Amino acid sequence: MPSYVTRPKTRKTFSWVGRSLLDRKQYYQIYKEICVKNNDCSTEIHIKVGQFVLIKANCNTKPYIAKLTELFEDGSQFPPKKCARVQWFVRFSEIPISKRHLLGRKPAAQEIFWYDYSGCDNSVYVETIIGPVQVVALAPDEVLPMDQNSEETLFVKLSWNTKNFEPLPPEVLSALKKLEDSPECQKPKSRHSTSRSCQTPAPPVSPNAKKLLELDGLGFPRKPNMRLSQKISCDSLEPQKNSKRKTASSETASPPKRSQPGEIKTSSALKTLRKNGQAPSICAKQSMTLRAQCPAEVTAKINVEGTIVPVRGRVRSSVVPTVILTPEYIRRETKGQEAHSCSSHRVHRRSSLVTLSRIRKQLWLLDKSDHEEEDFISSAEVSDCTSEDEDEDQDDSVPSLRRRNPQRQSRNRRMASKPSLQIPSKTPKKTPNRRTPHHATPQIRDRNLAIQEPTSTLEEARLRLHVSAVPDSLPCREQEFQDIYNFVESKVLDGTGGCMYISGVPGTGKTATVHEVMRCLQQAAQTNDVPPFEYVEVNGMKLTEPHQVYVQILQKLTGQKATANHAAELLAKRFCSQGSPQETTVLLVDELDLLWTQKQDVMYNLFDWPTHKGARLVVLAIANTMDLPERIMMNRVSSRLGLTRMSFQPYSHSQLKQIVVSRLKHLKAFEDDAIQLVARKVAALSGDARRCLDICRRATEICELSRQPGDSPGLVTVAHLMEAIDEMFSSPYITAIKNCSLLEQGFLRAIIAEFHRSGLEEATFQQIYSQHVALCRIEGLPYPTMSETMAVCSRLGSCRLLLVESSRNDLLLRVRLNVSQDDVLYALKEA
Ligand code: ATP
Ligand code: MG
Repeated sequence: MPSYVTRPKTRKTFSWVGRSLLDRKQYYQIYKEICVKNNDCSTEIHIKVGQFVLIKANCNTKPYIAKLTELFEDGSQFPPKKCARVQWFVRFSEIPISKRHLLGRKPAAQEIFWYDYSGCDNSVYVETIIGPVQVVALAPDEVLPMDQNSEETLFVKLSWNTKNFEPLPPEVLSALKKLEDSPECQKPKSRHSTSRSCQTPAPPVSPNAKKLLELDGLGFPRKPNMRLSQKISCDSLEPQKNSKRKTASSETASPPKRSQPGEIKTSSALKTLRKNGQAPSICAKQSMTLRAQCPAEVTAKINVEGTIVPVRGRVRSSVVPTVILTPEYIRRETKGQEAHSCSSHRVHRRSSLVTLSRIRKQLWLLDKSDHEEEDFISSAEVSDCTSEDEDEDQDDSVPSLRRRNPQRQSRNRRMASKPSLQIPSKTPKKTPNRRTPHHATPQIRDRNLAIQEPTSTLEEARLRLHVSAVPDSLPCREQEFQDIYNFVESKVLDGTGGCMYISGVPGTGKTATVHEVMRCLQQAAQTNDVPPFEYVEVNGMKLTEPHQVYVQILQKLTGQKATANHAAELLAKRFCSQGSPQETTVLLVDELDLLWTQKQDVMYNLFDWPTHKGARLVVLAIANTMDLPERIMMNRVSSRLGLTRMSFQPYSHSQLKQIVVSRLKHLKAFEDDAIQLVARKVAALSGDARRCLDICRRATEICELSRQPGDSPGLVTVAHLMEAIDEMFSSPYITAIKNCSLLEQGFLRAIIAEFHRSGLEEATFQQIYSQHVALCRIEGLPYPTMSETMAVCSRLGSCRLLLVESSRNDLLLRVRLNVSQDDVLYALKEA
């Protein structure tokens, strides 16, 4: 295949024209003009401030349109970057779909809108500028041309301010009109010393001119060369009708160039036809010769239907072409640049360039080991930066990449042939799905390195104390373990059902104990000590909404996916109908408190299902609230349900010490006194084993950090633990409580006392007030009036230390703590 068939690698150089105007800031040199030189074709375009330009957009989207307002060199970067400031225009396709109706009419084919939005980044790198474009501003009374083919000139009549379409402000309109008249905005110019005479500058097209063209009755395209190139590109997308089509389309990959003697330049040929009054249909069979020269000259026969028959192809590097900026050329140039710089999507944003390169790097790294993926990315890069009409070129030029996956190739073509809907232009766009591999499932990469063994005693202690580490045993929970085990085992053996309600304050080992029970039972089932059973676990904390629990249970039981309502129906059918299932199902519902709904239907169902004869369902419900079933279902129902209850008491200091010691088994990392101290501190506050373990872990870190380099690893001392405890209890809430007034602290104390009394974590204002009065009496203090206490309650509520009902202000106002009880106790003790 001759070399000219491959897509030209258009490398461009950008150089300032003239001297810098002023050094406004230290780092900025301002210029009026820039010269864009196309290295391979030796063409150059001069672009001045005030001109309208096309700016590279995503690979498969139309270029953005902007007006240059400033050209400058950003010396704050190294090496200094050539930048431009622009006023953006948006196409109709860039307006959010939901707002397009605001236009109230069909947009004209080439209509654009002045982008009246100050919040958008208006600086771009000059490398993202494709070339000049002609924009015509229309007054409100002027008619927009509706011609689909007039792609070369864009029309602006309205502005878009992200909320509405508005008429152009008079000053903007007059400024734009003035610009149209200025020479630099007449027609995109390219120049070359040897080919100036060959330029065919199209006259500026106005709507009036357009009307005249329409009136001539031919309906002939206003920009014949454009029409032709469009036709050609469409043709190249068609399936392999013509055996020579590949060659032909590759030949048309070059823009039309100046005429050569004896050959008709396409645009001028069509102009001639038009002048002669010949409609396309008349000359459909008439063929003419097209000479395309960049990067090499190829001569092809072309008829107006768009079928191109290559006559001869030869490289004539001596010929210096003139480039006419047809939209086709611009499209090619965009893609050529993208292929060269590999900076597609929203490339004109500096930040997006950086982000993009990072994403690419990560994508590549993720798939580094996967050769197929590597290939895919490479081919995606190619296909990304390739237009429909270049697909065939690529087939020839990059065969190894494109042919490996014909499916992808056809998919890409399908996608490319779809009209692309664009999202608003000045916000980051979603990349089309082109580069997503077909098996793109988020995965964690395999670990290449083995997990390193802990290198010091402290490090090992830290690992063992981590709350996620599964301990070998659960000291101090032997009784609870045995009770739960017996309960479930008996139900499984009998083939009956039942429900156990397990409650207790946080960190008392509820979840850990039940998990251990289930692990042992599953082992027993494997050794046929108990009949096989199905085990399903759901956690209220992991659900977005209480009714989702049905969906989760159904999916885990049957693998079926259903809506919440449908899942509830199916589960009710399974557990409440007479047909007895083969196996017992054990359902663990952790964090049951979070399944609270207004109608309490979720909790009710969970407790009700096991009561049905033949359900063979064992429910283990774990919650923090002791009397949740009573509160949900009232006593009569709860007694019918016949719940078995179990309460996990907070750990005492000796139990906490035992837990820490058993975790550290044979590892001397702590001083004995230190463990004693932390156990006592935590037991006094909450008896929460989780907190105790956290404090110990932090203390090992503090100990390690305080060690001087070269010192032998020491033991964690009381001082380290005190520091960890202080850190652990230094939240803003604790500081706020420490700084509360005596009255407020008294009220908080009363809340804790009431919670302890009732075993609940919610109380009415009246109950708390009674406690408050009682506490004041005990301490011999004068007690506040009810309205004073209500004011205190509101203040604590407004600080978010309390959660109070906003809608009421009476005795039945319900109050909760927004801080953990042990934080409140700690702060009150410190105060
Ligand atoms: P919550 O109500 O917040 O869910 P919980 O009662 O379910 O708390 P767990 O998650 O079971 O508490 O335990 C918290 C942490 O304390 C876990 O890391 C667990 O391993 C540890 N833990 C609790 N009790 C013991 C124990 N007896 N022995 C060893 N570790 C324990
Ligand atoms: Mg738990």
